[in-house]
Amino acid sequence: MPDPPSRLTVLSGPAGVGKSSIVAYLREHHPNIWHSVSVTTRPRRPGEVEGVDRYFVDSETFAAMVRDGRLLEHAHYAGNWYGTPRQPVEERLAAGEPVLLEIEIQGARQVRALMPAALLVFLKPPSWEELERRLRGRGTEPPDVVQRRLDTARIELAAEDEFDEVVVNTSVADAAEAIARFVDPR
Ligand code: 5GP
Repeated sequence: MPDPPSRLTVLSGPAGVGKSSIVAYLREHHPNIWHSVSVTTRPRRPGEVEGVDRYFVDSETFAAMVRDGRLLEHAHYAGNWYGTPRQPVEERLAAGEPVLLEIEIQGARQVRALMPAALLVFLKPPSWEELERRLRGRGTEPPDVVQRRLDTARIELAAEDEFDEVVVNTSVADAAEAIARFVDPR
């Protein structure tokens, strides 16, 4: 039997749920999965590598990429722009590689509309309390900032029903292995 066509999987979920830890685990333990590298206007954080973690661009460059149709999806999130470069995703899928996008929910909706065959996976916290604990962080942020994060998280959590699969982030390894089975079921 020929291999089934390779699959585009979108991993999404509320801020603070632990999507980036899952991605770090998958990069280490499932090197066959290709991860899209997002373009963003947000400043680089210490330790982040251009072209590995993100492509860091200014607003003008980002706007030009949108205008030229070079992004598969894009969204404004927490004060910055984020987007998925279209060409590498299309190339990897054509080459038969399993592709994973780790993006927020507005972007997941755009991929759904554009590529109905994509699999949308929602990563969910074990409980609201756990998510709240993570979003409150070290308690160093002003109360209005924390409140805004919590309000956004509630809205994001309500998107669960729009997704094909739901994975509860009880442990990074368990959740990541469950996601790996969706990304590359062969
Ligand atoms: P961060 O600032 O931590 O890199 O990302 C903030 C949020 O943006 C996370 O929820 C992450 O999933 C999302 N994100 C990262 N890259 C993209 C992208 O290319 N498109 C969209 N729509 N969201 C993204």
